Amino acid sequence: MSEKIETLLQEASRFEPAPEWVANALVRDPDRHYRRSVDDLAGYWQEIAREFEWMAPWRAVLEWKYPDAKWFVGARCNITENCLDRHLRGDRKNKLALLWLGEDGEERAFTFGRLHREVCKLGSALRQLGVRKGDRVAIYMPLTPEGIVAMLACARIGAVHSVIYAGLGSGAVRDRVGDAGAKVVIASDVGYRRGKVVDLKGILDEALAQTPTVERVILHRRAEPKIALGAREIDFEDLLASGSTNCAPEPMDSEDWLFILYTSGSTGKPKGCAYVHGGYMVGATHLWKLLCDVHEDDVYWCTSDIGWIVGHSVMVYGPWCNGTTVVAREGAPDFPHAGIVWETIERCGVTKMFTAPTALRMFMRLGTEWPAKYDLSTLRLLACAGEPLNPEALRWAHRHVMQGRGPVLDNWWQTETAAPVIGTWPAMTAKAGKVGKPFPGYRAEVLDRDGQPVAPNTGGLLCLRGPWPQMFRTVWGAHERYEQYFRQIPGVYVAGDVATVDEDGYLAVLGRADDVLNVAGHRIGTADVESTLVSHPSVGEAAVIGKPDPIKGEVIKAFVLLRSGFTPSDALRAELVEHVRRLLGPIAAPAELEFAAKLPKTRSGKILRRVLKAQELGTDPGDLSTIEE
Ligand code: AMP
Repeated sequence: MSEKIETLLQEASRFEPAPEWVANALVRDPDRHYRRSVDDLAGYWQEIAREFEWMAPWRAVLEWKYPDAKWFVGARCNITENCLDRHLRGDRKNKLALLWLGEDGEERAFTFGRLHREVCKLGSALRQLGVRKGDRVAIYMPLTPEGIVAMLACARIGAVHSVIYAGLGSGAVRDRVGDAGAKVVIASDVGYRRGKVVDLKGILDEALAQTPTVERVILHRRAEPKIALGAREIDFEDLLASGSTNCAPEPMDSEDWLFILYTSGSTGKPKGCAYVHGGYMVGATHLWKLLCDVHEDDVYWCTSDIGWIVGHSVMVYGPWCNGTTVVAREGAPDFPHAGIVWETIERCGVTKMFTAPTALRMFMRLGTEWPAKYDLSTLRLLACAGEPLNPEALRWAHRHVMQGRGPVLDNWWQTETAAPVIGTWPAMTAKAGKVGKPFPGYRAEVLDRDGQPVAPNTGGLLCLRGPWPQMFRTVWGAHERYEQYFRQIPGVYVAGDVATVDEDGYLAVLGRADDVLNVAGHRIGTADVESTLVSHPSVGEAAVIGKPDPIKGEVIKAFVLLRSGFTPSDALRAELVEHVRRLLGPIAAPAELEFAAKLPKTRSGKILRRVLKAQELGTDPGDLSTIEE
């Protein structure tokens, strides 16, 4: 980057892990563990890979022809054998695999034995329908056991699943189904959110009118009375009933496709990141286990959805390859009441939770009385990913949720990386405002545009050097789009975020490179200003953008959502601007501040600053297919 990015936010809060926590952690000395992993990358991952079941061994651990990697070359495996069969052969057959909750409180429980049977039945029925290894199957289902079983059933028979978040509109569904060339779609007629029925079938019908590759639609009919089936439609339950519990896992080459998952790019065309059985299984499982310090008795709840990478790697595949009990809940995190998340922890005895900063900020806005009402004593760890974790949200989570029982862990990753890359390891000191350090096997660097390392605490581009087993292998049907990530700076993967690294090796992510503010020649990441606004007691959430200005180049405009109990006023506006000026300096003080009722976000909860900017400037906002309405 020609001009350096300044870091204005000075945050001193640290959270030390309790000694008894460190004593019981899977990794007690993160720095030593990390060194070992990068000093002998292939050796490290080979050792981890041996913890899994393989149908045939690898000839080589890694083949790296920049930017293309192959891991566990020549080996055969099937990720579902490691998610399911292995536990049946061991002593987990009757262990709870999935405790699913509906928004209305309905509860359904699946042991590993039952889950295995359901997956086998659907897998064998799909095979009978003519679905073969390599065929693409689109899944347009909410977070239901059926949605999860559909993913695993595809993987079981070697079909490539592509989950499309149930809630994306018909254009997005059409593009994704078409791009993957899906032959079969497994869908639900409806989803339930905030007490409302979401008509998924209507959206699907519109989308499929323009996707000629689709031969069959398997419909999970939830609503009563059941809707009639069309000519190419099959009832999910009937199909399941026709299947056999005997369904051998398809022997997959380590590098055979497991799934495609679409990111929303800034341009119109969706980007289908594609992953493989072997490396993904090993990397995603291992990194989740280290991040969440997983033990046999854990009850783990991830608040994401199967439509996102988090919902694949740390909700389904990672936890079940580790034999962990998973809680999953369909619906909104503040419905039917503002305390439902805390009630769920109490009800299910959740020990480890994975959520997003956007959720934490929402809980913060709703007020401390909600977590205080419930017994959260089982909860031992809270992990958080998806956006910068504002120091205030981190402190709030410690104070009102964890209450000294365990860590709150930031971790950074992307759809493309498939698993956490940088984060605070459970036995590591957490520094507010910093994500943490690289996880095993990753070499993260902060570089300028010429590929030179920037000085400590100076912003630059976040880059990853070298391959990692679970990385995406291509952008479906467009390998040159994969290569673009590796071309901007020769030798490294450029993540598109701006970051800093401090003297202790802790990285902070300041926001997306595209969103960097440029005020009178000072380049500032969005996270510094937003986190400073959120540190004011009245602010629950904030987004900032740069607006063109004839004198300063850009001025900052802030959009602010207030916490409950506060009302907008000119006095409060002035106070908030002054708050930023005092903490970060005049350069970062917003020239404009608007109290907003809502911020535009992706369906996965990330603030869409480019939409705010486009609204402000009357320009084209780009791809809106994943916007939350
Ligand atoms: P996605 O691929 O949709 O999961 O989005 C990935 C992007 O989310 C990253 O490039 C970051 O901009 C952002 N992100 C994810 N985790 C974090 C985190 N812990 N801190 C800051 N930004 C994050």
